[in-house]
Amino acid sequence: MIESNRLKNRGYSETDVKERRHIIEQKTKCDLSPIADYSFNSEKASKNIENMIGVTQVPLGFAGPILINGDFAKGRYLVPLATTEGALIASISRGMSVITSAGGSKVKIFNNMMTRAPVFRVDGIDHCVKVIEWINQNRRLLDNVVSETTTHGKLLEIEPFPNGRNLHIRLKFSTGDAMGMNMVTIASESIGKLIEKNTEAKMVSVSGNMCTDKKPAAINSIYGRGKYVVAEARIPEDIVRVKLHSTTSAIIELNERKNLIGSAMAGSLGFNAHAANMAAALYIATGQDPAHVIEASMCITTCENVNENLYIAVRIPSIEVGTVGGGTNLPSQSAALKMIDCFGEGKACKLGEITATTILAGELSTLGAQAAGHLGTAHRILGR
Ligand code: NAP
Repeated sequence: MIESNRLKNRGYSETDVKERRHIIEQKTKCDLSPIADYSFNSEKASKNIENMIGVTQVPLGFAGPILINGDFAKGRYLVPLATTEGALIASISRGMSVITSAGGSKVKIFNNMMTRAPVFRVDGIDHCVKVIEWINQNRRLLDNVVSETTTHGKLLEIEPFPNGRNLHIRLKFSTGDAMGMNMVTIASESIGKLIEKNTEAKMVSVSGNMCTDKKPAAINSIYGRGKYVVAEARIPEDIVRVKLHSTTSAIIELNERKNLIGSAMAGSLGFNAHAANMAAALYIATGQDPAHVIEASMCITTCENVNENLYIAVRIPSIEVGTVGGGTNLPSQSAALKMIDCFGEGKACKLGEITATTILAGELSTLGAQAAGHLGTAHRILGR
């Protein structure tokens, strides 16, 4: 019993972590010294993990420079990426070099909000109608209850989805520079309790899965969640030939047959080559929630010939990133954010634009490699 308490206590001092690790070493008969070697004060992780026993190190590299012409990201950036996939950073860097030599990427955030969708049990249609009416007539009360839980979170919209004796309501919030999931969950719980108290609807869960958090879902793909971002670049044919060893027409054909037709045939929600790769490496490096890679993977990559340039764009409707809160305060992660001037207040939109452009670069390079028949060779040389 004492041992179990020592294993699970929520202490974060070096002694707590060491003691817990030694118990696990004895129980599993494994040498855990590799995870004991870390430089930051374990107390720093007190809001990020329970039962801490050490640190998993993921190699960190950089890609770039990438020239970005956004509303928030303007200029050249060296982008931090954490991965164990050999060839990934080389490929993203190549895409960035192509985009930069063609004048940079253009990028825009079209929508920016975070959602939570509680589910209520109602008596039937009549009760459901009354609950929706109460919600519509008491918006100020709902705003007030939100303001008691957060200063930066604001309720933007409430969308009801009635279904028999179920009522799902999708709540949309602005969340400042936080990704916002904790913020909107706490605010939604308060909203839900107020609705319960005034309408006799029963909140079965603060999350009724129409949010939708950490699962592939058409609702996020269509309407977006987090930052809905589009990034584009126009690459002259000579740069395509010299730097990507391919042609505009070969890349367009590949994109259509692979990313559009192939993905449609597979029933995929992602119409891209590997958007998840870039999102994962950037999210891990900068302290984002890596489970949100699933939403970023619902990217659509389009390619066209526009005035003899390869026009390439990515539409990523769900980039869920923040520059405060979550894992962003951990020392390695905040250092990575500082590399791109994205640490702290006023930087979340810039991080969203850099994320979209990094995905664009990775898409371009991989399409180029596959159009030129180089993908396997690159992985053989760099990844093995
Ligand atoms: P958070 O760290 O829980 O909240 C952000 C905090 O930063 C709030 O206390 C906010 O204060 C404060 N803040 C200070 N300056 C701010 C600014 N400029 N903009 C916005 N907030 C500012 O972070 P979160 O983004 O809400 O949640 C992220 C975490 O949620 C991640 O660790 C993720 O893994 C986790 N997560 C939770 C759920 C869930 O269901 N709870 C689901 C998925 C992920 P105010 O609120 O007073 O404004």
